[in-house]
Amino acid sequence: MGDKTNRFETEVVHKGYDSKKMLGSLAVPLFQTSTYTFDTSEQGERRFSGEEEGYVYSRLGNPTVTVLEERIAALEKAERGLAFSSGMAAVSAVLVSLTKTGDHILCSQGLYGCTFGLLTMLKEKYKIQHDFSAMESKEQIRSQIRPETVAVYVETPINPTMKLIDLQMVAEVAGEYDIPVIVDNTFSSPYLQRPLELGCDVVVHSATKYIGGHGDVIAGLVAGKKEFLDHMAMTTQKDMGGILSPFDAWLLLRGLKTLPIRLDRHCDNAEKVFASLKHHPKIRHIYYPGDESHPYHRIKEKQMKRGGGLISFEIEGTKEDAQQLLNHLEFIQIAVSLGDAETLIQHPATMTHAVVPEASRKEMGISDQLLRLSVGLEHWEDIWEDLEQALNQL
Ligand SMILES: *Cc1c(COP(=O)(O)O)cnc(C)c1O
Repeated sequence: MGDKTNRFETEVVHKGYDSKKMLGSLAVPLFQTSTYTFDTSEQGERRFSGEEEGYVYSRLGNPTVTVLEERIAALEKAERGLAFSSGMAAVSAVLVSLTKTGDHILCSQGLYGCTFGLLTMLKEKYKIQHDFSAMESKEQIRSQIRPETVAVYVETPINPTMKLIDLQMVAEVAGEYDIPVIVDNTFSSPYLQRPLELGCDVVVHSATKYIGGHGDVIAGLVAGKKEFLDHMAMTTQKDMGGILSPFDAWLLLRGLKTLPIRLDRHCDNAEKVFASLKHHPKIRHIYYPGDESHPYHRIKEKQMKRGGGLISFEIEGTKEDAQQLLNHLEFIQIAVSLGDAETLIQHPATMTHAVVPEASRKEMGISDQLLRLSVGLEHWEDIWEDLEQALNQL
């Protein structure tokens, strides 16, 4: 495709697919097959040795999945993309690829609950250490990097507190030590934030969220440099086997086409709901990256196109009040996950971050009164009115 067709909104629709090679099929065909036939035994030998390009077995590659992998690579401005059966399969494949016993990972303070669980397992089973860092300055990061540090792992916006980390700053410090920076870009999607353009090395996604966007698939994606992803494809992807099914890749390709349109609406709605919610007397604190008085607004302006669709807030009252608020809602659904058409709300302390020990939870800023709202695609006034009537019952 020429330069004119290189724009994001065009690439989400076209990149990685040529209908002429697929009998003119406008939609990407679903290659629901486990294996591929060889014309001769010699061809089988050439395919296995890599002498001849072509598909062999769907754990090693599938044409529908390949289109998705090329598309996410283009959107994240990466050399290569890889697809996995879940966000956690993607995160674990990346971390296992980068580490061995005795190594150390420096992480942002505040992580997805299961990423925290994975790091705990790596420590207990393989003595791979980790530390958490607020990553507020270069000096702070330098003071936490050790000779054994092999990776810096960052989530921004941080789930669920919405703190932001300056990715360019982190990439510069890590670069001084030649340590790769991995970014979980789930909350923003490549439409709002592209970490590789800011100097980071690997992006991971739970494609279950905004990329799929319709609450009907669990999937993960990785994007980064060809050398590292080629290595992953032949080791942690192929031999650990957490690959994406062709049908789920097909669903993600369908979801991706509307990513920019959906995200703009998620952002419009979140901005309006935020503006009403912040004045409600039952709201003690509210955290939204699109808020101009957000302590991290400078970082948002630097690296995010818009504030995203997620708002967290702390209510006045107790843990029980926070739980009751959810029970009072009429159409907003109580559910974990995010980025769907439906507005979803959850209570991190007892749901997504229940696995995190209380002391670490408090350090991450997750109180018992904190709620996380994934603003959906409904009319924003309906979303606000449902929240308002529930808050008024407290
Ligand atoms: C959901 C999520 C994950 C895990 O993804 P799955 O697809 O559920 O395995 C990782 N990171 C973040 C920020 C998430 O929201």
